[in-house]
Amino acid sequence: MIVRYGDQEVSCLVRQTAAVTGRIRIHVYPNGDVEIEAPANKQSNEIRAAAQRRARWIFQHRNAAISARQLATPREYVSGETHFYLGRRYKLLVYESSTKPSEVKLLRGKLEITVPVADRAAIKRRLNSWYSVRAAEYLNTRFSEVTERVSWLDRRPPLKLMRMKTQWGSCSPNGVIYLNPALVRAPRHCIEYVMVHELCHMVEHNHSRRFFDLLDAQLPGWQTTKRELDSLAELILAGND
Ligand SMILES: [Zn+2]
Repeated sequence: MIVRYGDQEVSCLVRQTAAVTGRIRIHVYPNGDVEIEAPANKQSNEIRAAAQRRARWIFQHRNAAISARQLATPREYVSGETHFYLGRRYKLLVYESSTKPSEVKLLRGKLEITVPVADRAAIKRRLNSWYSVRAAEYLNTRFSEVTERVSWLDRRPPLKLMRMKTQWGSCSPNGVIYLNPALVRAPRHCIEYVMVHELCHMVEHNHSRRFFDLLDAQLPGWQTTKRELDSLAELILAGND
């Protein structure tokens, strides 16, 4: 049985128990599998409706379980492993070919990588270079758009991408904006938040009241986005080794 939430979906195992009364229970296992346990008298449309009503809960728990597991296991760069791109999880598919050119493609929700020799180091190197190219392209384009919306700038400040262990971005005293290329793994609205935050520092170089007034005016509700990014930080930065 498929349960959907937003653009995510999961195939759930339905297990009907011998009991003829009782509630429909949903279990999310540490590997992210979802099982629906229903008494024997429940019809499948009833079970589906009950599961769908709890879709938000299911995906919150499932994503948390998968994230915890990913953090606990070092990246192996093998087929089946998931990697983030613009906030979505893509399943890695590794192809070994001595004749096809080495490449990385995003296709139908999968991240397909072709390498001449499928060893961990080679795949990691190829994938990281793909992420670097995508980061440079996406972050530069997006930065231009965001800068244009900001009223206090009449031209785009210089942007540099710099790998950082604990920060998403910074703004130097002479007005250069630094962004962490690992951001390309985060959702689009989180990337926008980091850009606007750093652009506010062009005016207010500290986290003063005036800084937050500016940020509020520019991006109302940024706090929710910041919390979302914070919750992903460890996971995304860990994938950026
Ligand atoms: Zn700041």
